[in-house]
Amino acid sequence: MLDVLVIGGGNAALCAALMARERGASVRLLESAPKEWRGGNSMHTRNLRCMHDTPQDVLVDAYPEEEFWQDLLKVTGGITNEHLARVAIRASSTCRPWMVKHGVRFQPSLSGALHTARTNAFFMGGGKALVNAYYRSAESLGVQIEYNAEVISLDIDNGNFKAALIQHKNAQGEVVRTERVEAKSCVMACGGFESNIDWLREAWGQNELGEYPVDNFLIRGTRYNQGVLIKNLQNDHHADMIGDPTQAHMVAIDARAPLYDGGICTRIDCVSLGIVVNKEAKRFYDEGEDFWPKRYAIWGRLVALQPGQRAYSIIDSKAIGRFMPPVFPGTKADTLEELAQKIGLDVQTFMQTVNNYNQSVQPGNFDHTVLDDCKTEGVAPVKSHWARKIDTAPYFAYAVQPGVTFTYLGLKTDDQARVYFNSKPSHNLFVAGEMMAGNVLGKGYTAGVGMTIGTAFGRIAGDQAAISALGDSTNSSQELLATH
Ligand SMILES: Cc1cc2nc3c(=O)[nH]c(=O)nc-3n(C[C@H](O)[C@H](O)[C@H](O)COP(=O)(O)OP(=O)(O)OC[C@H]3O[C@@H](n4cnc5c(N)ncnc54)[C@H](O)[C@@H]3O)c2cc1C
Repeated sequence: MLDVLVIGGGNAALCAALMARERGASVRLLESAPKEWRGGNSMHTRNLRCMHDTPQDVLVDAYPEEEFWQDLLKVTGGITNEHLARVAIRASSTCRPWMVKHGVRFQPSLSGALHTARTNAFFMGGGKALVNAYYRSAESLGVQIEYNAEVISLDIDNGNFKAALIQHKNAQGEVVRTERVEAKSCVMACGGFESNIDWLREAWGQNELGEYPVDNFLIRGTRYNQGVLIKNLQNDHHADMIGDPTQAHMVAIDARAPLYDGGICTRIDCVSLGIVVNKEAKRFYDEGEDFWPKRYAIWGRLVALQPGQRAYSIIDSKAIGRFMPPVFPGTKADTLEELAQKIGLDVQTFMQTVNNYNQSVQPGNFDHTVLDDCKTEGVAPVKSHWARKIDTAPYFAYAVQPGVTFTYLGLKTDDQARVYFNSKPSHNLFVAGEMMAGNVLGKGYTAGVGMTIGTAFGRIAGDQAAISALGDSTNSSQELLATH
């Protein structure tokens, strides 16, 4: 019988497969996407958030465990499991040599990627290169990899994994064959349910204006994370769940982005350099609350709560060159009135909003690399940092809509990545990545932590699955769990 079945084909699944194989287990990995779309959301990533006490290869200065933890505590508003968070944080200080061994290469923070040179290690070639490197390594180590193989349900007996039911599909996505595969243990790492528009629509429901906000959502990554196994585990097997189905990593992205896979280049990163107004031409949130990597992932939700789920990021020419330019150019105008007209906002209200904001801007020393003293006074909402008047033509506007990155509803787990049923851990069913990220991320996000969680728990899950299958607990993931 197969030792370890790994379900999913992104970072967490690949980390699990590699670890289990390194431990000597036979491993089969099932990816529901065709080969050309393999790698899930992981192929869209750029970096990994890492703790370090001294400068390390591509990372400058230090980013100690306590600071990483405090950052996470702040963005989640305390809705996090401290023990599991610290497991992921500590693992991030030791995982890179292992990643390099499997072909991943790192590079220093890109210019334009704000405030990340200290905290985030960037993948050379991005997540696509990372995923390709892991696939190459997995193939050469003898992991059996199958594409177009969607697992639609698990056979679980008394909390223990027995088998998975697979639908094999052809290039057109039609089911050509079903298969029941047994294994001694199983790792589920097949993403959240962010690609499942119907489920998102059901979770978000209607707002007070009678709108279905999800009708204006865009999905930043893969179309293959349909949450099939989350639903199967929740409804059919009554696994212990964690997280709120409406909580997700959500970014304000270019309203012209495609429904799926727009990726990083559709992100609008100039929010903290200007102001953001809704369809009623009114500001609705502090654009300079904190560094952008700690705030960008709340803006999708903020826009989702606005009428029509649409907003406009407004900057003047002083902001140009200070943020990663999105793939599509913004709407450009020589006057603010013309800008309002071009984007279809009420000119009078827009001018009032900009004038009120401009008048509230206090003198200060603008520095986008620190939480500077440029703030507003006497306007609501306040802009706490980087507040400068919008007064230098040409002016630019980017229409934004909510871009869902990944959902937080998932399976409850522990530091051995075990799935729980009625508060009891399974001995052979494990979970990693987005499927359990909600244990650490109850809400909010800080850039790079998705890959931190996926890498840490993918490795633990693979290790534990191999131990469960082979009955060998020597050198178990204690090393991965080592306190720092
Ligand atoms: C545009 C974008 C940019 C991002 N940038 C970053 C970043 O720079 N740093 C960071 O930390 N995080 C980033 N993230 C978040 C990051 O992608 C996720 O946290 C991480 O990749 C999750 O890894 P995963 O393996 O759990 O899921 P995924 O990488 O999404 O993999 C899930 C896999 O499961 C497969 N699958 C789904 N259902 C089934 C099924 N039923 N049967 C078989 N296979 C199935 C999918 O095809 C997919 O291959 C980004 C996300 C997006 C969308």
